[in-house]
Amino acid sequence: MSQDTKALFIIFGATGDLAHRKLYPAIYHLFKKNMLSESFAVIGTARREWSDEHYQEVVLDSIEDLTESKEHAKAFAEHFRYQSHNVKDSEHYHTLKELADTLDDEYSIEGNRIFYLSMSPSFFGTITHHLREQSLVTDNGFNRVIIEKPFGTDFESSKALNDEINDSFDEDQLYRIDHYLGKEMVQNILALRFSNRLIENSWNKDSISNIQITLSEDLGVEERGEYYDKSGALRDMVQNHVLQVVSLLTMTKPASFTTDNVRKEKLAILKALKDPVITQDENTEFVRGQYASSEDGATKGYRQEDKVAPDTLTETFVAGKIIIDTDEWRDVPVYIRTGKRLAEKTSRVDIVFKSTESDLFNDQPTLLSVLISPDEGIELTLNNKNIGPGMHLKPTQLSNLRSEDTREESPEAYEKLILDVLNGDETHFAHWGEVATSWKYVDQVRRAWDGFTDSIPFYPALTMGPKEADTLLSQQDHSWIYKA
Ligand code: NAD
Repeated sequence: MSQDTKALFIIFGATGDLAHRKLYPAIYHLFKKNMLSESFAVIGTARREWSDEHYQEVVLDSIEDLTESKEHAKAFAEHFRYQSHNVKDSEHYHTLKELADTLDDEYSIEGNRIFYLSMSPSFFGTITHHLREQSLVTDNGFNRVIIEKPFGTDFESSKALNDEINDSFDEDQLYRIDHYLGKEMVQNILALRFSNRLIENSWNKDSISNIQITLSEDLGVEERGEYYDKSGALRDMVQNHVLQVVSLLTMTKPASFTTDNVRKEKLAILKALKDPVITQDENTEFVRGQYASSEDGATKGYRQEDKVAPDTLTETFVAGKIIIDTDEWRDVPVYIRTGKRLAEKTSRVDIVFKSTESDLFNDQPTLLSVLISPDEGIELTLNNKNIGPGMHLKPTQLSNLRSEDTREESPEAYEKLILDVLNGDETHFAHWGEVATSWKYVDQVRRAWDGFTDSIPFYPALTMGPKEADTLLSQQDHSWIYKA
């Protein structure tokens, strides 16, 4: 474990929303569980002029509901220092270096540094360049960079960003966060698939009819209208989280559970994705939608949201049929859907097995559901004989859902991912090859949609998307398993 891993964290964007809501609580959890060495310190940097005392108050506020005692929280917050900093100003990096070196001595950190870029990606290149040029990178310890999403807006921009970062850091020093990869049940996919012979032996085209991934949110764009209107659901969710889950569900068993082998197999899937057919009729393999006001009028439509263009064509919903063009998977469509202001917040995977080839009974197809959030667990729906005379069957569900207590105690994605960075384990981070290949796939959809400038299908807020998302499946006699 990493109790011995000494590290200095330097968080860029320390006054931001992500730092407050996720990063400080995650680091506190590690501290509480003795997974942080006493030799750790955090420098928070951002533009605002804050004192160390004020910063420590902010950190304490962010962990208020989690603390064991005031003393314990205070002991944690004392590891935090603040340095006001404009990331574009070279001089500021000298000041930052001095503070970093001082803390390195004070806490005997021996040169291990984790640079957390929790800021707009437009600054990533500038920051990494200065870290190298102004010698914040040490010679005696590890230097790792954690990068937040979005990593570019298409293949070209992501490549430019990656090239810029690679001028100063190598790929094996980069940890691109995809917080879905830190979720318990997403990590469980490989365990489930490759440790159960029953499942492993039927995880193939002979047994599976189709795979369905639903990542739905009931919230709208909230305060993020400006960002979201330029991004849309395809870039925001499909390029990263959805395609990562697709690759975990369909990758070949790795030769061993190492970062390189897992990445190799995930990448093979992403490279095998068939070019999607995008049309404005029912032949399309990707459909989009935008939420209009709800049926009762109580929830406003996307075009009425703050900082969103009143005639915007940005999609707040995507559904797609993804085909993996290999002999193993070509005949098994992977249906995906994600969006905002849908009926319910849920992330789940449904594996729909084929019907039996006999007509002995009135059986239903077996179904395996992996519930990612907010419920966590698995549900297997099997056919079972009805008690009593005759041979009538009815579906029976075997469930293993994690209790609320277990869920509350289980580590949050950011906690696990930060621990992985401390341990130098890159398995649950997005490799450049995966990012690049995913963008190339998604760009094809984006380019086609950008050409459709007349209209976009609407769906009433708090429903499961436009009717086109149902047609996508019904054409092949499939239907969405999850109906909110
Ligand atoms: P934010 O706007 O709340 O915070 C941005 C931070 O950057 C602030 O601390 C600000 O002071 C600092 N900053 C801006 N310009 C600066 C400059 N020139 N010099 C120094 N500091 C400067 O953003 P956020 O929501 O915390 O998001 C941070 C990153 O994480 C972004 O890349 C975002 O896309 C990503 N992200 C955020 C969330 C979330 O839930 N907030 C989720 C996923 C990804």
